[in-house]
Amino acid sequence: MVPPLLSTSQLAISRLYPLAYLFAPLNAAFRLRNMPWELDEERSYHHSYFGGFPPLQVTLLDAVAALCTLLDWNSVCVSLLDATDQLLVSLPHPAAALLQEAIGKCLAELQPLTVPGHSPRLQQALEDRFTETAYDRCYGAHRDVVFNEGEKALSLVDTAINEAGIPQECEEEQDRGDAGVACGHDSGIDDSEEEYEPKQRAIKPSDLPRLHGLRHALSGLLSAMRSGEDYLTIYDRGISVLIRVEDKALVPVLRGIDWSLRLIVVRKVCALPWTVHTFMHVARNWTSVEPQATFPKSVTWIHPPPSYPPPPPLSLPTTEDLVTALQAVSPEMSRDDCVAVVKEGFECLEACRRWKDSTAGDIHAEAVLIHHIVSNKIAVYPYLATSPIAFSWSCYACARLLSVVNAERQLRLALRGCSDEMILPSSLPPFDEDIEAALLAQLRDDVRALAMGHLQAVKYKRPVRAPISFERFKDSDGSSQNSQD
Ligand SMILES: [Zn+2]
Repeated sequence: MVPPLLSTSQLAISRLYPLAYLFAPLNAAFRLRNMPWELDEERSYHHSYFGGFPPLQVTLLDAVAALCTLLDWNSVCVSLLDATDQLLVSLPHPAAALLQEAIGKCLAELQPLTVPGHSPRLQQALEDRFTETAYDRCYGAHRDVVFNEGEKALSLVDTAINEAGIPQECEEEQDRGDAGVACGHDSGIDDSEEEYEPKQRAIKPSDLPRLHGLRHALSGLLSAMRSGEDYLTIYDRGISVLIRVEDKALVPVLRGIDWSLRLIVVRKVCALPWTVHTFMHVARNWTSVEPQATFPKSVTWIHPPPSYPPPPPLSLPTTEDLVTALQAVSPEMSRDDCVAVVKEGFECLEACRRWKDSTAGDIHAEAVLIHHIVSNKIAVYPYLATSPIAFSWSCYACARLLSVVNAERQLRLALRGCSDEMILPSSLPPFDEDIEAALLAQLRDDVRALAMGHLQAVKYKRPVRAPISFERFKDSDGSSQNSQD
């Protein structure tokens, strides 16, 4: 029996959200327009591609989010209160006491580094103390990841070197030094536009010294960890890996070996040294921040509003209900097409859940922070950071919520980027009527656009849901055309 058509006015967010959940859990978000993305996956680490480093505040917020992730593994969203020395950190759950203690301690130890003019000896002592504190809090939880991912990376590099079949040349010695790690605008790296750099390419004989250098650095890090060296040594070895993996000349080669190799080394193997290094870099350069602001001293921890208990996992309505709702938003689609698209959505959602082994059933840290900022009318630095080392960038739902909030409240807040791996949360926090109405209108447009995309996939057998690569995300320009030809 064909149910009666639903008029647009009868649609509510609760009817539309399941459709968005079905159509956009994996990768469709990058095709939607006006998403509030500040940074994409590569930008903050590979400055030349977009010409210039992000501001110091952005780098700091990324580092705070990274540190939280290293300590807790929960997703967080971090912001800086305007004109104060306070950070806002939101979590989907109450923050563990250990996390709060560790962040407090790290911020306290960074304070003296923000004061210029120390003797080199005192400067080194302060940096060592901070490094040891950060490693003391994070290393235990982080160690296994470094071993697992480090061994995998090492074996990929080894195999690639062997398969390249080029005789080994002597290894080029690269000096270790802070200037080698690209994370800020004081490191003396030329900001001018680089010559054309291929995104990925095969190994050439001239790459071998660099590849051997990376190989050497990786095995040095793993052996230092295995033999239980002290934290400063392990940090030093980690930085040595980071310098090599961030070597721009090596980036396309590493992508040629395995597209994710470089990012996995940066984000997982080097997560802790990257975080520590970045913090110290930001602290040392904080006096150059415009307008002059105090380096953050404390954190306000934000949790979901008490009136908003964690929702149960989203239970999707029946196919019939979904088809009815879809017909209401996409009257141009035939009923058969709606059925086919919903069916396609279910199949892909299942594949996505199997792949990621995750379900929704929660609220995201970004939504919690956005809710807090909007409902308390708080002025913040316009970048909301999520952890750059956890592959936990923002989902479509949180980003769309933010774009609606920006439009309704004349804000310019931005998130890190779009994840092709983040399953949508079960729901979003409740907002004022105007925001809810704008969100409903936006969801309606998005669901229609996403459904049309899926219809193309069904008709032309295009794999819409194949995970997007970073490359494809970067290449997206808001065009709704499916780029998988
Ligand atoms: Zn989200």
